[in-house]
Amino acid sequence: MNIIMLGAPGAGKGTQAAVLSEHFGIPTISTGNMIREALKNGTEMGLKAKSYMDEGKLVPDEVVIGIVKERLAEDDCKKGFILDGFPRTIPQAEALDKMEVDIQYVINLDVSDERIIKRMSGRRVCENCGRPYHLVNLKPKKDGVCDDCGGTLVQRKDDHPDTVLARLDVYHKETEPLAAYYKKQGKLVDVVGQDDVDETTDLILKAIEA
Ligand code: ADP
Ligand code: ZN
Repeated sequence: MNIIMLGAPGAGKGTQAAVLSEHFGIPTISTGNMIREALKNGTEMGLKAKSYMDEGKLVPDEVVIGIVKERLAEDDCKKGFILDGFPRTIPQAEALDKMEVDIQYVINLDVSDERIIKRMSGRRVCENCGRPYHLVNLKPKKDGVCDDCGGTLVQRKDDHPDTVLARLDVYHKETEPLAAYYKKQGKLVDVVGQDDVDETTDLILKAIEA
């Protein structure tokens, strides 16, 4: 099964991707995590992406399309995958259509701007493996420590309030049109994102396993 997670920054794409990944036994491909990883490793791509990311802007299409194409060619994607944070623009969606993969579902997580802004202040991420957490909605077992790898939980630079507004703006302009794009392809599954992670997961599974 090949799935795309769509929705605003902070709508819960990454969280739900992790749950679905485990449920279906398929990998999550998170462009945000891949770019942050490149940055940590000091690669040329990572350094190029940094300024865009820090300002809440999108990294250029050709860069992101290149890394996704390479990643999808790896063996573990053959049994299925979940795309988290890609595509984010119409040109990215068109490029994906040209790669030889069949997408079954595009899960569009609907959360209001107001709730996103509230949520973002509590968002934390594992510095080591990228797993997302939330101080209220999705607590780790031990404060400040990742359940999976023991890494330290940090607030992302681009989760600071001003940058969040810039990212929402970019989302409405560039990414929101993808809902209509996939609706036309008959793949769109609209899900209202709940504050409770398990409730959202239930809604998604009901919608795609029905
Ligand atoms: P969120 O979904 O919470 O916004 P991500 O980790 O997916 O966070 O993305 C963080 C940043 O990484 C984006 O603001 C952007 O700069 C960059 N990025 C990630 N995915 C893409 C993409 N598909 N196209 C362009 N830029 C991207
Ligand atoms: Zn971790």
